[in-house]
Amino acid sequence: MSRILIIEDEESIAALEKDYLELSDFEVDIETDGRKGLKKALTEEYDLYILDLMLPGTDGFEICREIREIKEVPILMVTARSDDIDKIRGLGLGADDYITKPFSPSELVARVKAHLTRYDRLVGSGTRKNTVIEIRGLKIDKTARRVWVNGRETQFTTKEFDLLTFLAEHPDHVYKKEELFREIWNMESIGDIATVTVHIKKIREKIEYDTSKPQYIETIWGVGYRFKA
Ligand code: CA
Repeated sequence: MSRILIIEDEESIAALEKDYLELSDFEVDIETDGRKGLKKALTEEYDLYILDLMLPGTDGFEICREIREIKEVPILMVTARSDDIDKIRGLGLGADDYITKPFSPSELVARVKAHLTRYDRLVGSGTRKNTVIEIRGLKIDKTARRVWVNGRETQFTTKEFDLLTFLAEHPDHVYKKEELFREIWNMESIGDIATVTVHIKKIREKIEYDTSKPQYIETIWGVGYRFKA
């Protein structure tokens, strides 16, 4: 559920906005004082802000500027005079939209929805999404370096994680122990390639139901290992 903060000193307008937004399943908080509103805006998490321009304490210009310094979520400015819109634009405060009083509450709700959808798309297509590999009961979040086996989070050491992820990213490919050693331990394979065997064993104990009949990492005798697609 998206959370919205309204900073508006006219209580009847704030209450009307809140009512309409709640009917559309938004969670809404109201602050009627600019200074308190700014504090709440900066310290709590909201998905969108609706700011009145003229407020006691701190005005909407300043609140918008300060929110924008640390947050990228949509900001809607509400003004009593249409010529204020040019002023807001001219100041380059980073507000996403402007609405002039009096406005229809359903128009406000429509704009809120449009901005949230646009913002979701922006964030969703960005780099913030984690890279996740899912193969049958195994889920690897590469970004967070977390692994779930049949829905249960399981701890892996750094090298175990690297080895498992590397194999899972290259299914149906047979790797020699020497190749895996070079890939994961990042040095020439003059070291002990038995390290690979030890790590495969530990990974299997964590991900396989029956380590004698591996469903994920197969042993290709005399060659190496293959991750089953
Ligand atoms: Ca006002």
